[in-house]
Amino acid sequence: MAAKNKYVYLFANGVAEGKGAWRDLLGGKGAGLAEMTALGMRVPPGCTISTEACRNYYAAGNRYPEGMWDALMVALQKIEQAVGVVFGDRRRPLLLSVRSGARESMPGMMDTVLNIGLNDETVQGLIQMSDNPRFAYDSYRRFITMFGNVVMGVPHKAFEEILEAAKKRAGVRTDSELSASVLQGLIAPMKGRVQEITGRAFPNRPWDQLRMSIDAVFASWHNDRAVAYRHLHGIPEDWGTAVNVQAMVFGNRGEDSGTGVVFTRDPSTGEKYLYGEFLQNAQGEDVVAGIRDPQHISALRRLMPQVYDELVEVCQRLERHFGDMQDIEFTVQEGTLYLLQTRNAKRTAPAAVRVAVEMVGEGLIDTREAVLRVEPEQIDQLLHPMIDPQAEVTVLARGLPASPGAASGRVVFTAEEAVRRREGGERVLLVRNETSPEDIRGMHAAQGIITARGGMTSHAAVVARGLGKSCVVGCRALVINEGSGYCRIGEQVIHASEFLTIDGSTGAVMLGQAPLVEADLGKDFTQLMEWADGYRKLGVRCNADTPQDAELARKFGAEGIGLCRTEHMFFAEDRIMAVRQMIVAEADEPRREALEQILPMQKGDFKAIFRIMAGLPVTVRLLDPPLHEFLPQALEEIGELAAYMRRPAREVRTRVEKMHESNPMLGHRGCRLGITTPDIYNMQVQAIMEAACELKLEGVEVQPEIMVPLVGHLKELEIVKGHIHAVAEQVMRQKGIRVPLLVGTMIELPRAVLIADVIAREAEFFSYGTNDLTQTTLGLSRDDSGMFLPAYVEQGILEYDPFVVLDQESVGELIRIGVERGRQTRPELKVGICGEHGGEPRSIAFFHRTNLDYVSCSPFRVPIARLAAAQAALQQEGDQT
Ligand code: PEP
Ligand code: MG
Repeated sequence: MAAKNKYVYLFANGVAEGKGAWRDLLGGKGAGLAEMTALGMRVPPGCTISTEACRNYYAAGNRYPEGMWDALMVALQKIEQAVGVVFGDRRRPLLLSVRSGARESMPGMMDTVLNIGLNDETVQGLIQMSDNPRFAYDSYRRFITMFGNVVMGVPHKAFEEILEAAKKRAGVRTDSELSASVLQGLIAPMKGRVQEITGRAFPNRPWDQLRMSIDAVFASWHNDRAVAYRHLHGIPEDWGTAVNVQAMVFGNRGEDSGTGVVFTRDPSTGEKYLYGEFLQNAQGEDVVAGIRDPQHISALRRLMPQVYDELVEVCQRLERHFGDMQDIEFTVQEGTLYLLQTRNAKRTAPAAVRVAVEMVGEGLIDTREAVLRVEPEQIDQLLHPMIDPQAEVTVLARGLPASPGAASGRVVFTAEEAVRRREGGERVLLVRNETSPEDIRGMHAAQGIITARGGMTSHAAVVARGLGKSCVVGCRALVINEGSGYCRIGEQVIHASEFLTIDGSTGAVMLGQAPLVEADLGKDFTQLMEWADGYRKLGVRCNADTPQDAELARKFGAEGIGLCRTEHMFFAEDRIMAVRQMIVAEADEPRREALEQILPMQKGDFKAIFRIMAGLPVTVRLLDPPLHEFLPQALEEIGELAAYMRRPAREVRTRVEKMHESNPMLGHRGCRLGITTPDIYNMQVQAIMEAACELKLEGVEVQPEIMVPLVGHLKELEIVKGHIHAVAEQVMRQKGIRVPLLVGTMIELPRAVLIADVIAREAEFFSYGTNDLTQTTLGLSRDDSGMFLPAYVEQGILEYDPFVVLDQESVGELIRIGVERGRQTRPELKVGICGEHGGEPRSIAFFHRTNLDYVSCSPFRVPIARLAAAQAALQQEGDQT
């Protein structure tokens, strides 16, 4: 490892003090330059000031750590020897570049200064050395522009104006047509502008220029762009950046020079061919600034065939050496190729999968490495329709990306309208302040859902993920004026029936109907998943409430159902009235009548689901939400129900009002319903067991598991389990067949965790409901926290939304305690998790380490969970060796 207090690492003449593996210390760019130098590739000599130096610099109130500057001077002398020119020398001046380079690439977020060392004297030396005054003055005016902008804060526009005026006077269109004398004439006015705007003279002394450039690069770690980028990509604030100080090579030395970027494979498809761009007689910033359009890399083959061949060979070597697809920057100076950077290339999801699989075929990596190469979250892109990447869209606002995929449709404000329009063949988007269980049919009918309120586990978010519908929640710019038939998103007014598009993967809400492209899984994906399955230890089940979901989840590789939420089944159009009667009925008779109507329907659902999941476990949760959620609210609907029940409307209304709760999430729900109204649970158990027995008689293998929600006391479970077994026994006797049945509990309350050893006496399995467990542990409402959680994350109070990424310190600790205590009583206790965290990779890694048996997540997250579980297992193996 690197020496202590060594801040500067030289790379020159085939020798590098740093190593490619020291990314943390040298940053990605510095590590790549060191590695390429050590490989004997042609890299302009230079040195890297470490990230440690940067951190010490901040800690000391922006002062260089002791010894850093001296070490830089020593390194500079070696660089000078290597290139045979001297920094600041008026006859043979060395020019330097100063570039940022963090541990993880943050493209374009931090600063770079090129051509450092130029002043009115050294430019003469450059003219003599190059015998090319045009090139020398071009470099000089570029330097003033870049330094003036990056280091001294002069707006780009101030220099552009001077350049534009010169082009106009000279009657030319492009910079490259300007003569040496015109370029020379730009120097004084440009420096004058700097003085005018900043009140400071442009520094002429090369050493001042170098010092100020290094300071500027250090400071650029804290600029707004970089801070925002880190925030988005979860890069820690305290890493700091390395600074690379390197001898300049010049792509603007004439027609046999140029600059370019290549990828060793196509970063959007993964196809293996040299992909990239080249710009003749130019420096890199021309491409970035969009001043000139670069040409396809094949232009280099035509213009400089030998250089092209060398580049191809270098690319192959680098890819083989790093065992990954590379993104390479190069410059050609008078026919000689120089390498300026190599790094693992960023790529789309399809490219990531294809490259990983093909590299195994090429013998570059093994299957373990391939599985580790693809980011689980990324494959989400493969599963859902996306907005055509070529399309131009107008983003009106952003909310939380609650359920991925893109969807377009006509705006509707009510679930009924969504159903009606869908039946008429239209595609609609359901736009609501928030959704509630009675919106379920509308959500089903819609292409996607957008809500103004709510967080990542609000009703809309959870249900949409379950349905595989695109969904954006908590879009605070959305104001709905349902009565007048329009909504407003920021300044834009959108009337009912107008088109909107949402992207549930990014949270973007767009005007109009954006073109979408379908997902295509392909054989590479299947292969990668097969490898992943071979490595993972965690089982992966799905949360599925309907046969359609179950079917989809099987296609994505689910090994059973970990959560079938039965409430979904209660909202079907043809049963809601009976369900309402069942709830409202105060006497036994009408309730029984209603239950008898519902029973065959539930049984039909279970039969279909069990059949799809033949041979696999299916965990059915007994009814959970507060009953009043099923009840009608509007007077008109209450009237309809009263007529259906043949009761006076007033009586029905009073009953509905009586059932109102101010805090339903902590109210009369879960097993509390099973205690007070056992008939409902009994009907559900009967439906489950009749379905299971009948299928078994047909020869279908069934493994029902009945799960009791929101248990906090042993007695609750004892009572409910007693009822379950009584009904199950009766059904099995009646059908003359036995099916294996497990009865377990959800763990959703801290109390249940703390007495897990006691609960395990009755529970044959645990399934953590981490949505509720997060809510009850953090005292945060799943439905309301969307209003303030983003501010908590922005201000660093929370690193992530705890409804998305498991809060390991609290909820994670509870899970660990519960597993330990539960297995003390029942060592073989099967433990799973079925909250939303079951499909989130960081949380999955935790569940793996905590020895859970399985995770369960919505169908579209099943492949993500399979990959994440495999990576967690491989990473743990790696940590242990
Ligand atoms: C949970 O609470 O994590 C859970 C899975 O149940 P629900 O989201 O239905 O409350
Ligand atoms: Mg729950």
